[in-house]
Amino acid sequence: MKLRENVPLAPYTTLALGGPARYFVECTSEAEVREALAHAGEHGLPVFVLGGGSNVVFADEGFPGLVLRVAIGRDEGIAFGEGDGAAPEIRAGAGADWDTLVRGAVARGWTGVECLSGVPGTVGGTPIQNVGAYGQEVADSLVRVTCLDRATLERRTFTASECEFGYRDSRFKRRDRGRYVVLDVTLRLARDTPPPLRYPELRDAVARVGGPGSLDAAAPADTVRLVRQTVLALRRAKSMVLDPADPNACSAGSFFMNPVLSAAAFAELERRWKAGGETGVIPSFPAGDAVKVPAAWLVEHSGFPKGYRRGGAGVSARHALALVNLGGTSADLLALAQAIQAGVQARFGIRLEYEPEVVRVPT
Ligand code: NAP
Repeated sequence: MKLRENVPLAPYTTLALGGPARYFVECTSEAEVREALAHAGEHGLPVFVLGGGSNVVFADEGFPGLVLRVAIGRDEGIAFGEGDGAAPEIRAGAGADWDTLVRGAVARGWTGVECLSGVPGTVGGTPIQNVGAYGQEVADSLVRVTCLDRATLERRTFTASECEFGYRDSRFKRRDRGRYVVLDVTLRLARDTPPPLRYPELRDAVARVGGPGSLDAAAPADTVRLVRQTVLALRRAKSMVLDPADPNACSAGSFFMNPVLSAAAFAELERRWKAGGETGVIPSFPAGDAVKVPAAWLVEHSGFPKGYRRGGAGVSARHALALVNLGGTSADLLALAQAIQAGVQARFGIRLEYEPEVVRVPT
């Protein structure tokens, strides 16, 4: 285990924000994770477990304990097993790059994660918030997650149903928040299966990219490849693919969760909107018995248009849901996030929740 001191955290985050970690360790094996946790326990250090840094905001003051970066399987850590018959399995270390896994699955023509192309971050982060896009989510293909209990250092394996997945949600965000370090993840995909194209936006774009009749004529494996290509193009157009040359991509992806409202709450939202003299329709999508409202729409209609700028932070010029670091500080970014939260609350009576984890300095 190689413990380093006073390591700037900004380079380890997609937002490029955050002061130094008092101690920092990169763990490439379970044994190293155990050693790091034991060391922190012995010295009474708070621990923050870091993956790809795509969903985290560190304070400008940094972190006064140990930042443990999970790098298990980062290099060559993805096993594309053949599994049994029609259902090939992929097992990957938590530190493996998520999109490398997706690229490998798609190259083999396997169906199940193609809509999740271009999502930044590591494999280990994906079950925590049940990463999803265009109607597909990790919960659809996940078989098991192996974790290490941070307190007891015992290993525990969770099946998909034990993960208690919900919309961008799992037990790891709720009752077991902060309890486990994910070590590896196993997914089960499908062979010779047409990919699900649940969102009209994606279906239309795939048909455009592939040309007329492409969806009907192509073999499933070719459609899977076409879906990946299309999703990457859609995400790129919104600056939602990591790109050092794109200032709008210096973000943590979506900063706010899309609120899911009861039918009554949505009716109240519409009433409030119309009472203000508005005649346009509020975009919404069914989510079981409830209604999902795009947070980006709420942000834009609360006085924070795309390209809005305040201090060293702003709203992405390409997507109102992404907050971008424009050369400022974490404090700038969090002040903007708070202002947006307050603006949406005042305008619509809805409290937007942050999607990234904000790591405050323990007092
Ligand atoms: P988008 O495509 O502009 O869509 C905005 C909102 O509309 C999202 O709430 C999306 O729901 C919803 N939506 C659109 N078409 C829908 C349909 N046919 N049925 C149901 N809901 C529909 O969203 P975006 O921000 O550019 O992101 C593209 C995709 O990447 C979205 O699916 C988004 O959720 C996903 N994404 C996921 C994460 C994450 O997992 N942490 C982070 C960033 C983006 P959904 O959110 O349920 O898809």
